[in-house]
Amino acid sequence: MPKTPQAIRGTQDIFGPDAEAFAFVVETFERVRKLYRFRRAEMPVFEKTEVFARSIGETTDIVSKEMYSFEDRGGESLTLRPEFTAGIARAYLSNGWQQHAPVKLATHGPLFRYERPQKGRYRQFHQIDAEIIGAAEPQADVELLAMADQLLKELGISGVTLHLNTLGDGDSREAWRAALVEHFRAVKDELSEDSQGRLEKNPLRILDSKDRRDQRFVADAPKIDQFLSEDARAFFDAVTSGLDAAGVKWQRAESLVRGLDYYRHTAFEFIPDEGSEAAGKLGSQSTILGGGRYDGLMESLGGAATPAVGWAAGIERLAMLVGDKSEPKADVIVVVENDELVDRAIAAIGKIRAAGHSAELMASGSPRKRFDKAVKAGAEKIVAFDIRDGTEHVRIKADDHARGSIEQLLG
Ligand code: ATP
Ligand code: MG
Repeated sequence: MPKTPQAIRGTQDIFGPDAEAFAFVVETFERVRKLYRFRRAEMPVFEKTEVFARSIGETTDIVSKEMYSFEDRGGESLTLRPEFTAGIARAYLSNGWQQHAPVKLATHGPLFRYERPQKGRYRQFHQIDAEIIGAAEPQADVELLAMADQLLKELGISGVTLHLNTLGDGDSREAWRAALVEHFRAVKDELSEDSQGRLEKNPLRILDSKDRRDQRFVADAPKIDQFLSEDARAFFDAVTSGLDAAGVKWQRAESLVRGLDYYRHTAFEFIPDEGSEAAGKLGSQSTILGGGRYDGLMESLGGAATPAVGWAAGIERLAMLVGDKSEPKADVIVVVENDELVDRAIAAIGKIRAAGHSAELMASGSPRKRFDKAVKAGAEKIVAFDIRDGTEHVRIKADDHARGSIEQLLG
């Protein structure tokens, strides 16, 4: 016997309650994004490598070690998308979506990162994603965050808090950066190897480090507030007062930076509260939704300066938090107790489904056992087709009200 091929390490085959939870996350996202009038967009799964290298930044983990890049048959370097934002920005520029600006976009789908697979961390995973492009005002940040907050509520996820920071505008960020380099340079030898490398190139990233050796020096590192320009301060104040008005709970997280180079102003993550059920379920993979403002990104792709803000959330991690969703039972089971009536039953089930009820046909196995099987499957309504004493006999098991509407449906 030839050997059965194995799935690729870090990929998943999702089925049963897990698949239902996954679908529930996507369906809820689709519903909520319509409430906030985000428009759906679909982008390719792969792009020219430079799309990600130029916008995410060469010094990030994603670009330096996590990308699935390959040469195609034409010798061009392509990359399976490791995140949505860069591809959306590329699409915005290639298609002239400026004409729709400000434009609110939503999408979801698979992403690829060459990471060490573990619980909640895969090489092919999935995200839902929301972006507002061409909007410079803080109200865009508020709307985007209110949508995230409502989504988590509608998913039934509790014990999760919005952690919020500002990275300031270009000038504030530059001054903060210089102070961070000075701070960390003094303890350089005690930092992790990764952070020693980040020190000159991207010191903000040290704040984001999960290595204990770095975390010791993060607590007393200089804070952005000292360096905020007046404009950046006013922007952040408008975001927080808008969140308060929208009823979105948040807490300040002064060390929160996002891993990617393109962020400005608002940066945020929704993180499970310590000791909450959500924290227990996710363990160390704790960020479930993250994003921020990326006013500098379009320029790095050669476009005009374009303010924008967005977030992404891992569908698998959200699905772990919503818990098992059992596969729903059929509204109606149509039982063929005599095989001569199978076409009658097919016609009937077609009408039932067309009227918007989920229905399953029970027409295999021993005809005498099919009705009992339908009862066991837990259907509240059963329509059974049989021949008794030479005449067709339709039996409906349902409460009076439902029986009336089924009889009407079947005519
Ligand atoms: P982490 O710190 O966990 O590596 P990240 O900062 O790399 O996350 P983002 O790039 O911000 O994550 O992606 C947003 C969300 O996508 C994460 O909060 C998480 O829910 C999900 N995510 C990221 N990488 C993976 C992965 N390899 N497998 C599953 N989900 C992931
Ligand atoms: Mg990561």
